Amino acid sequence: MLARVQDRGIEIRIPTTPFGQHIMLSKKILGNPTSERTHTSTYVEKAQYLQRDRRMQICLILALLLARSINGFHLTSTSISQRCVRSPTKVAPLALPVRLPGRLQISARDLSDTNFDLAVIGGGPVGVSAALLAARAPFLKKVVLIDAPRASGALMNEETGEDLSIGGPTGLFSKALRDAGKKISVTSLKGMGLRDDSIWNEIVTSCVELASYNSRDVLRQLEYAGVTYAQGCAAFADSGGSSSLFVTASDNSISTVSAEKILLATGSTPFRPGGIPFDGKRVFDSDSINTLSYLPKSVAITGSGIIAIEFAKIFKNLGSDVTLIIRDTIPRNALMKIGLDKDIAATLVADLVRSGIKIERGAQVKRFHVPRDNDKAPIILDLEAKGGGERPSGEATTVKCDVYLAAVGRKPNTQNLNLAAACIKADQYGGIEVDNELKSTASGGNVYAAGDVLGRPFLASTGMAQGVAAIKNMFRKEIEDASESEEECDSDREVCLAGDLNMTGDNFDPKSLASNPFAFPTGVWSSPEASYYGLSTQQCKDMGIDAGEGVALYAECLRGLVFSPNGLLKLVFDKSNGRIMGVHICGDDACELIHYGMELVKSKRTIDDVLSNLYSAVTFHEMYRIAALATVDEAGARKRRAAAGRALAARIRGSAEE
Ligand SMILES: Cc1cc2nc3c(=O)[nH]c(=O)nc-3n(C[C@H](O)[C@H](O)[C@H](O)COP(=O)(O)OP(=O)(O)OC[C@H]3O[C@@H](n4cnc5c(N)ncnc54)[C@H](O)[C@@H]3O)c2cc1C
Repeated sequence: MLARVQDRGIEIRIPTTPFGQHIMLSKKILGNPTSERTHTSTYVEKAQYLQRDRRMQICLILALLLARSINGFHLTSTSISQRCVRSPTKVAPLALPVRLPGRLQISARDLSDTNFDLAVIGGGPVGVSAALLAARAPFLKKVVLIDAPRASGALMNEETGEDLSIGGPTGLFSKALRDAGKKISVTSLKGMGLRDDSIWNEIVTSCVELASYNSRDVLRQLEYAGVTYAQGCAAFADSGGSSSLFVTASDNSISTVSAEKILLATGSTPFRPGGIPFDGKRVFDSDSINTLSYLPKSVAITGSGIIAIEFAKIFKNLGSDVTLIIRDTIPRNALMKIGLDKDIAATLVADLVRSGIKIERGAQVKRFHVPRDNDKAPIILDLEAKGGGERPSGEATTVKCDVYLAAVGRKPNTQNLNLAAACIKADQYGGIEVDNELKSTASGGNVYAAGDVLGRPFLASTGMAQGVAAIKNMFRKEIEDASESEEECDSDREVCLAGDLNMTGDNFDPKSLASNPFAFPTGVWSSPEASYYGLSTQQCKDMGIDAGEGVALYAECLRGLVFSPNGLLKLVFDKSNGRIMGVHICGDDACELIHYGMELVKSKRTIDDVLSNLYSAVTFHEMYRIAALATVDEAGARKRRAAAGRALAARIRGSAEE
């Protein structure tokens, strides 16, 4: 064994490791020599690969001691031993450098006898962003954020009570998993002879690291803004009207919190249709999938919305065989229902097929056979046609899988809030009923709601915009002075018509944010990403606008052709004046690229404006010019797209033949 200090870090050579012959402890892993816990704990997580083999462990410890003597690092024997005894199949809590600042997270008991200006219930992206806004100038409110940790598997450190999902969206684990799938090549690791449980440990460690960056940042922001954060489950107190809350802490102690205003941001939970034997081990919903503790060889997913598609690609990228079971016979229809342009939806579906995901169309699961006495035996799903009955001949009647995921919608989280005590009404789906100021029917007129708790469209960006609007509506007085000096909203600007977040427009309606195509860009973090802003061609037609389209393929711009050829960008424009009405993108970085498109629409730019702009070479932004060009030279554009398509097909064939 040999340890050698290099520019990049410390290279340790250990014979017979499954990594080949050496491990590189990069400077990134080692961190600053003064922050010994950081580098030690992170490194030891990496070393879980070696846990099973005692000889490897000894090599590792010796190597680390050697590294220490070379580089001045200290290694505490407790941290090694605590970690090395852990079973690699279990995701144990990590001692990541995330710390709950003592003065920030107070116990629910300490909340009693304190009156707050605002109590925010729910620590998802909506609650956190609203709490921060209210605590800062010009509002400067005394705010308490009460959050029941989601206790979602790897994102909950049960030893310390650290909730790594605080402030993250409900889909945080899926985002982290998606990122892990990009960084970690499961096929290469398997090729090196690593066992699935070791690979899964590495994936989850990577997810937890990502989540910890987020939670650490959220806690720091709350602390700096002076927001009080308490973990606990809040509900309206029976006799307290709409200003008094009971908060139940994890030790079951209950305290009362009083606040002048209350924002409900309790989010949503998965809809669980009857008949599905959810067990959190092999049969999951879109939340409990966060507790998955092994790398499945095969996954079957019911659903055709974004969450289903997102997980289908994630598991495919992680090397699983994936089957998507959808009721519609045309997969893109479900995506169009949530607002995606037809070509964007078709691109996403084409990507699923190309990546080898099997799609069972016009189908539903009739019966589940989950072997309870044998974890290794596959789950068998009996399929039937949509609505019941036999599937057409030639179609599969059964699907075998290790893991089943139902991603069939979500419902607002309102059951445990004791809404009746505050006279708050919910709709038939459980969503809080609000007026156009996002104010609920609460007896005191002081309770507002934002985010998933209102129901569709269950998107983080929608909810956060609603949260901003709710705070501004609650504390109008504080922003009156600031807005007096602001320019009045020109009613001709869509941003005002559609719901200016500065609330200067007469037609402002935060409730309509959900359905308003000009309120904000919509980003879907599928893989590839999809994003849009403004109107689709169909919406233009419905509004009596004679609309045209200009399309650029990723494969038509140099950066796309070389690095990421799958996808397209579409400009929708008003034929009468060339004004750009909407932008729709599917492909790499779509959620980033959309913001330039949003500015084009908001500032009434035309196709000519885009054509006269210069775009740096080897950027995805070149697609804006190519799409604009396509609107003035349709025949040429068709030829260019055909050529790009042929080049792409040849490339795919080439890589398949290699
Ligand atoms: C797999 C998946 C993928 C997704 N992908 C995307 C995407 O690509 N783009 C996008 O825009 N959106 C996406 N979403 C949706 C997005 O995650 C949600 O819209 C967003 O998290 C909603 O935020 P929220 O703050 O309203 O609620 P949540 O994030 O659900 O947070 C609510 C919080 O309130 C807490 N809580 C509940 N009841 C109580 C109570 N009584 N007392 C105290 N606390 C309570 C909960 O524990 C939770 O911490 C995805 C969701 C999932 C599940």
